[in-house]
Parts: sequence; structure tokens; C-alpha cells
Amino acid sequence: MSSISSDSFENTELAFVAKSDWQLKKAYWLFRIVNNNTVAKISTRVASVSLKLHLPIKGMIKKTVFEHFCGGESIEKSKETVHTLSKYKVRAILDYSVEGKHDEGAFDAALMETLRTIENAKGNEEVPYCVFKPTGMGSADLMEKIQLQQELSEEEKKSFERIKNRYLVVSQAAYDNGVRLLIDAEDSWYQNTVDELVYEMMEKFNNKRAIIFNTYQMYRWASLQNIKDAHQRANDNKFVLGAKLVRGAYMENERERAGIKGYEDPICTDKNETDKNYDGGLKYCVENISQIELFNGSHNEHSNLYLTELMKKHNLPKDDKRIFFAQLYGMSDNISFVLADADYNVAKYVPYGPVKFVMPYLIRRAEENTSVAGQSSRELKLLKTEMDRRKKAKI
Ligand SMILES: Cc1cc2nc3c(=O)[nH]c(=O)nc-3n(C[C@H](O)[C@H](O)[C@H](O)COP(=O)(O)OP(=O)(O)OC[C@H]3O[C@@H](n4cnc5c(N)ncnc54)[C@H](O)[C@@H]3O)c2cc1C
Repeated sequence: MSSISSDSFENTELAFVAKSDWQLKKAYWLFRIVNNNTVAKISTRVASVSLKLHLPIKGMIKKTVFEHFCGGESIEKSKETVHTLSKYKVRAILDYSVEGKHDEGAFDAALMETLRTIENAKGNEEVPYCVFKPTGMGSADLMEKIQLQQELSEEEKKSFERIKNRYLVVSQAAYDNGVRLLIDAEDSWYQNTVDELVYEMMEKFNNKRAIIFNTYQMYRWASLQNIKDAHQRANDNKFVLGAKLVRGAYMENERERAGIKGYEDPICTDKNETDKNYDGGLKYCVENISQIELFNGSHNEHSNLYLTELMKKHNLPKDDKRIFFAQLYGMSDNISFVLADADYNVAKYVPYGPVKFVMPYLIRRAEENTSVAGQSSRELKLLKTEMDRRKKAKI
């Protein structure tokens, strides 16, 4: 395929080329369930409670929602998914999606698991990045206290030293193995602490190319300026800025907390403002591509198309090593497979981990895909189009 237009994302044959008829049907029914807000709410609640009570539903979750949105229960068990994606030039980013464990033992375990993903990605063309979540490596409460410049107890000071050390160990491993490392963004009330840790790692390890990437949630109105400030810091300190752009997944919590605590809402006033901010971020990064490497994490068709147009305008090759497009596994295959087929660099975040512990991740995906949030009706329409197309092709 030569160039991308908005029609390109309608190509369901290409979008679902990796899915068997049976997988397609399963995905269709899954999105139909999720599309019904009440049914989606009840099913996710029942699933979480049943798992907590050790009721035998793991098999059912595994065969349905888990298989659709996750690669497997371990790095090893996710390999088949990774190989399948790579047959179609879609790369994978293994994302250890165990959430909700917040003690020093769990932070050390997350560190070890991130090191295993780096080892797995070393020299592996199929896996271009590794990733971790800030709350996997340290306490959100402690990071918030630091952001608020509150005095720390001796114990808290030691905990913070351990957080810093975890960042250093994973970043050093990423650097030594030539693997790019993304640090996700979560809540704004401790993001400044994360930013500072990440920029310190960039100063150490991004001297020749971007190894360490910070995440900018463009639903925060301040994010475009944050990118510009980070770019200035990169210029001053002679490092390459690694910028991962997303719109942001925690809008309701952010607004609610700002309302309760009485500070200015950090989120853009409406979706249109977020969209403008996002595309402004893409534009800024592409205009400064000699000092910024860009990771575009979005399911928004317009923003993905816009990035291809920006690349064309700036005469950048489609497979420019400094630019990646990325979507979540199980969502927006019409964007991922179409862009990969057209020779752009594309990767999927492939979550993995024991079924029981990735439930919070799966519930977030279900919520994001309800008819209120909007994405599921698009997925449903595409799946139905492809099912009909295959039926006709068999006649
Ligand atoms: C590869 C990848 C990595 C990701 N990593 C992270 C991460 O580290 N941190 C994180 O938070 N999220 C992350 N996400 C999730 C991402 O933030 C959501 O997928 C995203 O919010 C959905 O936006 P979209 O760009 O796909 O487009 P759309 O579906 O067009 O946009 C939906 C988004 O717009 C914003 N929005 C909606 N309504 C309003 C409103 N009224 N006012 C203001 N803004 C509004 C919200 O951010 C909402 O999620 C990641 C996603 C991908 C694909």
C-alpha cells in the first residue's frame, strides 16, 4: 500500500487478517457484551468477586476477555501472540499488567519482571520497547509527598532511595541491552516526581539516541508546555528526548479529585481541547524530530492519519526509526495492521500476567469500550463488516 487516507482504516480484510473466523466471532460477541453498559458493569463485578472467592471461572475469563486483550500469563506464554503479530509486521511491547500490589516486595518483584522483559527484548526485532508503570516501582503516596515537598521520615527517605535505585537498575539494563524503555503515566498528583526521575535517567542514558521515554498525557492542558520544557532541558543537557504521547486514561479520577480538593482541574475543558492538544504535541515532536523520538499511543484515527501527514510534509520515511505508532492489543487492529502494511513502524502493547491479577486492567478496557466511552461501537461495526465480507467471499 502506498499512502494512508481515512478510507484505509476501513480495510477490514487487512485489519483482521490475523484472526480466524472463530476468533472474529468471539471478538464480536465480546464487544457486544461490553457495548451494553449494564451488562458490562455486572459481568466485570461478578468476575472480580468470583475470582476473589476462588470460584472456578478463571478458565472462562481466560478463553474470552483475557485471550482477546492479553498475550498470556507469562513472557514465555505470550510468545505465540508476539510471533503472530510480527508475521504482519506489527511488533509487541510486553506489558506486565499486574496491578494493585503496593509493598516493597511487590515493587522488587515488578523490577525483576521488567528486567526479564528487557532480557527478552534484547536483539529481538519483534519486541522494540519495554515498559513499566510508576506505581509498580514505588508508592504513589510517597511520590505525592515528594511532589508536595513535604518532609519525609527516615523510613520514607530510604523508600525513595529504593525507588530511585529501581529506576537506575532498569534504565541501565535497557541501555546495556540496547532496548528502549517506556515509563507509563498515571495520576497527575505524583507525576512531577516521576518526571524528575525519568529526566535524570534520560540525562544519563539518552546521549546518542532515546532509550528512556517519558509519557505525556495530552488530556492535561499543561502537557504541551511540559514537552517544550523537556525539549529545552534536553537541548541544555545534550540528550535526546523520548516522548510517548497518549490522551490519558484517568480523566474521571482527575476531575473528581480536583473538585473535592478544590484545585484547578488539570484536564482540558472538553474532548475537542484534548484533541487539539494531542495533535499539537505530535506536530511539535515531528518539527523537532532531530532531538525528539516520538511514540504515538492512540486509537484515534484522525491523530494517526495526521501523524502520517506530518511525516510526509517533513519528508520523513514511513519507517523512520524515531517514530512509532502504537495501539493496545485487542483494540483498533484496523489502525495497527493497516499502518504496518503501509510500512510504518507499529507496535501493540501486549499485557500479560496471571489472569487474577490482570483483572483491574481488563476492567479498565471493558469500561473504556462501553457505549458511553464510544470505542466499542466502532470495533463492533468493523468486526461485523469483516464477518459479512468473509461470508460473501465463501458463497
Ligand atoms: C500504546 C498505548 C499506551 C498507553 N499508555 C498510557 C499511559 O501510560 N497512561 C495513560 O494514562 N494512558 C495510556 N494509554 C491509554 C490512552 O490514554 C487511552 O487509550 C486514551 O485515553 C484513548 O484515547 P485515544 O487517543 O485512543 O483517542 P480517543 O478515543 O479519541 O480519545 C478518548 C480520550 O480523550 C480524552 N477525553 C474524552 N472526553 C474528554 C473530555 N470531555 N474532556 C477532555 N478530554 C476528554 C480522554 O483522554 C479519553 O480517554 C495508552 C494507550 C495506548 C494505545
